[in-house]
Amino acid sequence: MRQVIIIGSGPAGYTAAIYAARANLAPLVVASSVEAGGELMNTTEVENFPGFPEGIQGPDLMSKMQQQAERFGAEVLYDDAVELDIDGPVKRVTLGSGKVVEGDSLVFATGSAPRKIGIEGETRLSGRGVSYCATCDGFFFRERVIAVVGGGDSAMEEATFLTKFASKVYVIHRRGELRASKIMQERAFKNDKIEFVWNSEIIDILGEDAVTGAVLRDTVDGSTRELPLEGVFVAIGNDPRTHLVHGKLDLTPEGTVRVDGRTSRTSVPGVFAAGDVIDPTYRQAVTAAGSGTVAALDVEHYLAALGEAGAPAASVSEIDELPDADAA
Ligand code: NAP
Repeated sequence: MRQVIIIGSGPAGYTAAIYAARANLAPLVVASSVEAGGELMNTTEVENFPGFPEGIQGPDLMSKMQQQAERFGAEVLYDDAVELDIDGPVKRVTLGSGKVVEGDSLVFATGSAPRKIGIEGETRLSGRGVSYCATCDGFFFRERVIAVVGGGDSAMEEATFLTKFASKVYVIHRRGELRASKIMQERAFKNDKIEFVWNSEIIDILGEDAVTGAVLRDTVDGSTRELPLEGVFVAIGNDPRTHLVHGKLDLTPEGTVRVDGRTSRTSVPGVFAAGDVIDPTYRQAVTAAGSGTVAALDVEHYLAALGEAGAPAASVSEIDELPDADAA
């Protein structure tokens, strides 16, 4: 029996693990069998994580976070959580291997995944001109002609941001009107570097090792044409990875896990959530890491209260040895 099981190995999961491990809670991190390290494993240079003035490769950053968590006693398991039983005081996680692990508490930090267009060129050229994050990759498109796909707030925000770098930004939207809020629309409409391509969907992205263009289909008359481009930013929404907790935890209308105010407490006692899975807005590595910190501190308080109440005493006995909060 573990004191805390953390599901997810992105910045939220590993930061929760660092804090929980330093609090002698010996966390178990279920890190995924294929994608340990989360979305940053798909990123190249990370230039906006504080403490790395020269930048750091996404996978290196995640490897450092993992090492830091392990140094204090976190155990990282390369397996997938496939089913949760979280209603009772003992939280049970069934793993892909068939093994079941149990804990007094659970941190759910499964992140979110950018929605994909779902075309072949998109997968093949991902990281080679196809990106899902303007703040991460915009810098690499100085004086380039690029496109943003989507008509929501994210697409407007990304397009406007990208005009700082690119010489021209097409916004390719499948309808004739935007979903984005008026203020974001107006900002984009006023920007001379942005050109809207209405009623169009991308049906292919062209290029061998780098993006050279896209094939667009007119959604009104069905005609197709090629548009020369050096980059494609896909901004058609993000989906929090919540499939494991559907029907088990309350969700928000945006589809994220609902937490209590600024805490990480979910609708089920002893289950905490952190990172992109609770955040429909910021979705940055740094904010996810901060959210993981909140979750670990909430877990500490929860386990301490459990210990005081005399509930599963055996598994929370180490709580007496917790350093005080100032020392953490
Ligand atoms: P969104 O509002 O769901 O918009 C997604 C856009 O992508 C829509 O225009 C949609 O087209 C298009 N789309 C979806 N699937 C597509 C596909 N397969 N192919 C082509 N186009 C596709 O998502 P979002 O823009 O990421 O925003 C999510 C939430 O975050 C919203 O509540 C938004 O207000 C909020 N947000 C706020 C800010 C801000 O205030 N600064 C910034 C970003 C996001 P249709 O319109 O035709 O459906």
